[in-house]
Amino acid sequence: MTNDIKDLLRITEKDLTILSSHQEMINHTNTMVIEARLTNSPDRCLNCGCSAIGEEKKRNIVKNGFKKSVLRFEPYQFLPTVMRLAKQRFACRSCKSFWTLQTQLVDEFCFIATHVKLKILSLLKEKISATLIAKLCSVSVNTVLRLLRSLEDYIPGDEGIALPKVLMVDEFKSHLSVEDKMTFICADGESGKLVDILPSKKLDYLVDHFKKSPDCERVRFIVTDMNAAYFQLIPKVFKNAELIIDRFHIIKRLNDAFNEFRVREFKHLMTNGNKSAARKIKSNWRRFLKNSQNIDISTYKSWRSFPTPRFPLLTEQMMLDRLLSYSSALRLAYDCFHSLTDAIRRKDDTEFFDILQNLPLELDEDFRHILVHLMTYETGIRNAMKYPYSNGKIEAKNTHIKTLKRNLYGFKSYTNTKIRIFLLNGLIEIK
Ligand SMILES: [Zn+2]
Repeated sequence: MTNDIKDLLRITEKDLTILSSHQEMINHTNTMVIEARLTNSPDRCLNCGCSAIGEEKKRNIVKNGFKKSVLRFEPYQFLPTVMRLAKQRFACRSCKSFWTLQTQLVDEFCFIATHVKLKILSLLKEKISATLIAKLCSVSVNTVLRLLRSLEDYIPGDEGIALPKVLMVDEFKSHLSVEDKMTFICADGESGKLVDILPSKKLDYLVDHFKKSPDCERVRFIVTDMNAAYFQLIPKVFKNAELIIDRFHIIKRLNDAFNEFRVREFKHLMTNGNKSAARKIKSNWRRFLKNSQNIDISTYKSWRSFPTPRFPLLTEQMMLDRLLSYSSALRLAYDCFHSLTDAIRRKDDTEFFDILQNLPLELDEDFRHILVHLMTYETGIRNAMKYPYSNGKIEAKNTHIKTLKRNLYGFKSYTNTKIRIFLLNGLIEIK
């Protein structure tokens, strides 16, 4: 019977005997208690190495009572489970030393069974909070955090991180410290694997950090968005690298600029009398952003803004033309906006910059200003169309990090966060 319990608990230690099991209240919780004993007869003293039975059959090593300890196990059938283990103590008559028999179930000076620890470690790879892990494993939150911290040594140091050929750089909001709210993240542009996370996105810090790395020269491309000043890393650290501006960010920049202009134009029409046209432009805002190649030119329908029988049946293209006929400024901006996004989709950088250089003079000034500003990033934008790399993979990583952050109710400690993110990305291997 007691051997069956041993089997159920998957304990293979032959010196351990299970005596009984019962339920008991421990810390106001009904707990399953397994009473067990650990004993054997050693051949030699651990301290002086003398043999257990000396000359004239005199015993050198004698049993010296038991040391009791309570080991935390995984919950059994939802019942918190502990093992009350009596470990044999020995005394050596020859060198007057004492020792206690150790078990493989737990590390020395620890009360959490090794397989519970392994369970905690595997749960730390999931996007769940430490509090939930503690509850699932019937341990305290501090135990979980302590175990998490113990993985800190597995994080490679500054010099140990290998840099890839294509380095995607970005940041995410962490609110970990007051001085820098953004955490820097970089990943391999080809495999999508996480490379590193750094506590600050400040340029000086990054330059100092990357200078320590032996393979700065290996980096051939830096992929970034237009918001941050990461392109300044190229002349300072990555001397062999070329800049690539993420092409989805270029499109987003264009989208935002066009949207802002559309809102201004809506307000202008509202104050200048043509309220009905303004409202139609407002309610169809999404259609202005739709890829002009995908606009339907063959199906005739009735539209909410142009209902029959007051209006004839129209195709999507005809409806759009009608909307644009209300404002020549909008028409002009619309055409510019779509010829630019089109050039990006076709990866035609020559055409893209041709359009930018020959923008019509009547174009709205603010809108035009944003477009002209893109010329600052000419090399990066041209490279975006020339090479296949974008920041898509790092954006996906950031989404995972956001989920983790939400499930953790925010990040509190930088190191803990870094370990969790490394675990999540499989950069720390637990054996
Ligand atoms: Zn001894």
